[in-house]
Order: sequence, then C-alpha cells, then structure tokens
Amino acid sequence: MTALTKPLIHLAGITRLYQVGDSEVRALDGVDLTICAGEFVAIIGPSGSGKSTLMYILGCLDQPTSGSYVLEGREIARATDIELSRVRNRSIGYVFQSYNLLPTLTVTDNIALGLVYAGVAAAERHATARDFAGRFGLGQRLDHRPQELSGGQMQRVAIARGLACRPHLVLADEPTGNLDTKTGAEILTTLKTLHAEGHTIVLVTHDPTVAAQAQRVIRIVDGRIVSDDLNAGFSAGHGEAASVGAEQTPPATSRTEPADGMRFADLLRMAWHEGLAAHALRTLLTMLGIVFGIAAVIAMTAITEGGKEEQLKQIRQIGRNNIQVRSLDLEGTRLARVRRLNPDGVSADDLARIREVFAQEQGIVAATGWKGIKAELKLGTQAIDFANVLGVFGDFEQVTDFHVGQGRFLAPDDEAQRRRVVVLGSAIAEALKLGDQPLGQVVIVGDEPFEVIGVMAAKAFSKGGVADITVIDRNQDVYLPHASLRAYFRKAERESPFDALSLRLASEERLLGASELIRRMVAELHHGADDFVVSVPLEAMRQAQRTKEVFNVIIVVIAGISLVVGGIGIMNIMLASVTERTREIGIRRAIGASRSDILRQFLTEAVLIATAGGILGLVLGVGSGLLIQGLFAFPVAFNGWIMLIATVSSMAIGIGFGLYPAWKAARMDPVEALRT
Ligand code: ADP
Repeated sequence: MTALTKPLIHLAGITRLYQVGDSEVRALDGVDLTICAGEFVAIIGPSGSGKSTLMYILGCLDQPTSGSYVLEGREIARATDIELSRVRNRSIGYVFQSYNLLPTLTVTDNIALGLVYAGVAAAERHATARDFAGRFGLGQRLDHRPQELSGGQMQRVAIARGLACRPHLVLADEPTGNLDTKTGAEILTTLKTLHAEGHTIVLVTHDPTVAAQAQRVIRIVDGRIVSDDLNAGFSAGHGEAASVGAEQTPPATSRTEPADGMRFADLLRMAWHEGLAAHALRTLLTMLGIVFGIAAVIAMTAITEGGKEEQLKQIRQIGRNNIQVRSLDLEGTRLARVRRLNPDGVSADDLARIREVFAQEQGIVAATGWKGIKAELKLGTQAIDFANVLGVFGDFEQVTDFHVGQGRFLAPDDEAQRRRVVVLGSAIAEALKLGDQPLGQVVIVGDEPFEVIGVMAAKAFSKGGVADITVIDRNQDVYLPHASLRAYFRKAERESPFDALSLRLASEERLLGASELIRRMVAELHHGADDFVVSVPLEAMRQAQRTKEVFNVIIVVIAGISLVVGGIGIMNIMLASVTERTREIGIRRAIGASRSDILRQFLTEAVLIATAGGILGLVLGVGSGLLIQGLFAFPVAFNGWIMLIATVSSMAIGIGFGLYPAWKAARMDPVEALRT
C-alpha cells in the first residue's frame, strides 16, 4: 500500500497527567507513535491502561500535558479551541461505544450534525445525510429517532455522522462494545470497508478478537506502548462492501471545503427546537415573569397615556391657553368679611383692568365673563325646570371655542342696550321643540320674555373633569347678555357680578407668568379680599399628570422587578438545562462545535425565551388595554416606543441572564461532558 508512506499522525513524548488529590496519575507516559494514512490500527490494552486518554488526545478532545502531536502535518498539541474544533469537525470522524446520538434529532439530522458546524446549508446537508444513510442501509429510517433504532443501526448512524464531513481519519472507541457478536462483526466489516476505500482507521478495544481484525496492533499498558505489531493474517475489506450497502462512500479526497462556523439560521432553528419546543410547558412557565412585566408596562402606560390624551381633549374643550378668574362661593361671616374689603366681587372692572394691562403686551387674544343662574324656561306647553342661564359678556364664543350654529351670537350692542335676546344650547332648543325655525320665537326665562336670536351648534363635551375644573355640557346652556341678566333678574345683593372671567392667551408659554400677574392685579383691586381664585386649566392638568407620573414610575419599578425575576427564572432554567444536557454538549463538541458555538447556542435559547416572553407580554398588554377600553369605555393610547423598548429590554434580559449559563456550557470540558 503506497499510502502507508505518508504519516498522518505523529506523536512524540506524549504525556497526560491527572491530578487526583495530592497524587498524580500518569494516564499516558511518553507515547511515541506514528500512524500513516491508510492504516487500520487497533489499540489494545487492559482497563485503565490509558487507551481512552490516548483516543481523546488523538481526537483533539483533550490536550496532552507535554509532547508533540502532529496531525496532517500540523502541530496541534497546543492549538486553540477554534483550531481544535475545526480539526474535530473536518479531519476526524469519531465513533463511540455508546453511539452518542442526540435523542431529539432524526437519523438525518444526527448524520448531518457535523455539517451544521461546518456551516453547510440545510438542503445540501440533508442531501449528504441521505446519501450516507443510504450507504449504511438506513434509507428507510431517515425520520426515525435514535430510540426507535437497534444498537447496530444506531452505531451505523454514528459512523455515517462521523463520515459526513468526509474526514480522512476515523477514530472508533470500543465501537462494538455495546453490541452483540453478530452486529459487532457487521460494524467491524463496515470499518474494514471504509479502510479499503482509503480511510485511516484507529480502533480502541480491550477485546483481542476485535484487535485481531486490524492491520496493525498496538498494545498499551500503564500509559506506555509495549508492543506494535503488523498483523500477518490481515485481510483487506475489499469486496465486503456489499454487506453494508451497495454504494461506495464518496472518496475521502472529494470533500468540499465548507464555510466557516455555524449559520445564524441554524442557530435559531436549534434554539427553537432544543430550547423552546422541546420543553414547551417549562419554557412557558419560565417566561411568565417577563410576560407579566411587559404586559403590565404596556397596559398601564396605555391607560395613563389614554387618560392624558382624554384630559388634553377636555382642556381643548375648555379652551387650551385659558386663564380663569373665578369668584369663590362664600357664605356667612366669610362672605361678609370679604365684601367689607371688596363690595364688588369679581367685576367688569377687574376684566377692564386686566385687558388694559395686557393690551400693551398683546398677550390676551380674547376675554369673556359670565354669571349663571338657574331659571325655569318655557315655550308654549314645553318647560324646563332648572335651566343653566348664563349672562355672558365679551368674546364668549372665541374663548370657549363654542360657536353658534344658527342665527347669531350675542353682540356688544345687545349688551349695551340690555336687549331681551337669548341664544340657546342645541339640547335646550331641542327640548323646547323649537323646530326648524327657532329664530324670532319668544322663550320665557323665569318670568321674562326673550327673543331667540341664535342656537349654538351641537358639540360633544366629554363627561368628567380635569383636576379641579369641571367640564360641563354646554349644549344645555342658555345665553343672555350679561347686562340683561343683571337688569331683569333680581340677585342677592352681595353676589359677585361674575362667576368667572376667562381669558385666552396667544400662546401657552406665558400662561403661568400671566396668571401670576393677574392674580396679583386682582388681589390689589380687591383690596386683599380673598374672594377669587385664578386657575390655569392646562397647568392644573399638568400638575395632575405629574402626580400620575409618580404612579408611572411605580409601575415601571414593579415591571422592572418582574423582568429581573423573569430573568432570574430564565437563568435558573438555563442552568438546569446546561446540567441536564451535559452529554449533548460533549457530543456537539466531539462533532466539531467550538466553545463559541456552544455559547451562542445556549445564549440564543435564553434570548429566544426572553424575547418570546416579551412578545407574549406585548400581546397580553395590548389585549388587556383594549379589553379595559371595551369594558369600561376608558380611553387607552398605545405608545410604539414603549413597545419597542419593552421588546428590546426583554431581549437584553435574555442576554444578561443567559450569558452565565451559556458561558458555563461553553467552558465545559468535552471529555468530562462525554463521560456523564
Ligand atoms: P482505559 O481507557 O484504558 O481504561 P483511561 O485512559 O480511561 O484508560 O485511564 C487511564 C488512567 O488515567 C486510569 O488510571 C484512570 O483512572 C486515569 N484517569 C483517566 N481520566 C481521569 C481523570 N479525568 N481524572 C483522573 N484520573 C483519570
């Protein structure tokens, strides 16, 4: 055999020491060995002689304490993890005594496992796996799981897996140890056939009859090679290929150079398959912390945001940039006291003075004032017992953003002449059954007749209030000139001529400064009488919202705690998973996974669990928000940014809490992992 002249493996002075307590175990003690390409070598020795240790070093799963190991011309005794992983993946096909198949994968996927780490695309991987399955008589078992196969079939899957990346070297560690004699013989025949096809086979066994099948037999005792003999009776495996399948293994030299490292799609698929789908219930329970954390944030912020928008809508109904000077509702001695200081209450003089001051600054765009009474309203047989009758003054329509729909609104002339004219809210016009031609009809207010000159356009006023300002339904209002109200309706002497003055400013920014100025001016005019209050609805709303923000902070803190607890849950389950799957980690490492592949696998699982939790939380949050809206007619507003932040933070939780378990998995020693 000409191939024998080329050394494939060269070991020189290989030692492997184990520290057990205080003593040192010399598992290998100065091994020198050269194996040429195309040889079929059996390593034999009693239990504890160091066979497995030697095999692990040859298989790049372990590294020698000292000495040199040259494989395919490259020194690898001190190679990096990535280099060793690549050698395991592409140059070595490892066959174990206990098959070491992954129980959750099908025959096809088990055979293709090494190709995943070589970065081969799924379609090509499966085609190759099917070829090899056919070659080893597993064509009918492609979709079976390992537990549905016989021992011989499992070992053939393992051999096919070892060969799928088309290595030169096949390392078989007691490959027949778990099989009956007949099946064991079949596996040996398979190995012989592979040898005949050009593979280099190194077989470890304690069984002399198995070793007798090899071309060269190396005996090892106490970590040293004691004999190295060629087997005179060795018969090459040519012609026996038919016993395992008709087709030939594609020649070892025909391997294509695979891409570097695992594909991202495979990483995701693996994380989904092994991490989530394999333990659906456990995964779901683990997610709950994150689900509830995210759902709480989404739903709660939607509710507070909805509330804010609703308040803003109400503020717009009152008038956005408005300042109100309201007369305080006082009684008894307090009223007597303030009236001694200021007999007039909130009066037209106040308004005139405010306008005068602001006229220079052009700050006020419109101003109004009103006085309200409750009065009976009659038209023919229709009557309304307690109508809200307002005597209004100034630019009422403009300040309140509430406009006439039919006819006209009260004019300065009506005020000056104290005319008996009235403008009705649409609901009142309807209740009085004014019909299509309301203008010109005479309505009795209290006992006084008033001519209808206009009907307000209907406008929706949402119920409720903002801070201390109540939103009233103005469709129920009745408007008279302020002077007419004062003239025709006898009011208590001491009552203020205006319930409120309302001023609209040009812009929002001067609202606070202006309100302070107005408060001081009015206080001065009232000689210090404490009979009025200045309010800024927008500011009141902001105050109220600031208070609510404290609740928001509390919600975020609670959600944050929930997320952290969720993260700890993920960490916990990932740590358990790493321990449970120690053997799987060992198998993957033997097939060619690098530390970084293992790290990425477990990290992706953690991130996927956390992100899935985040998305579930998002759905739950939006769902409960909508439910609250539907059930309680409570406005909700979802914020896209918060949703994005929630999803990203759940991912971050996955990374943060998945890193340690993933690092633990990656750090595992492959030999230790395989022994579990
Ligand atoms: P064999 O495969 O021939 O049975 P091994 O290679 O498993 O032998 O073991 C060789 C020697 O090294 C034995 O004495 C064994 O106890 C020791 N050994 C192997 N692995 C370890 C380890 N991880 N820690 C300590 N001693 C070990």
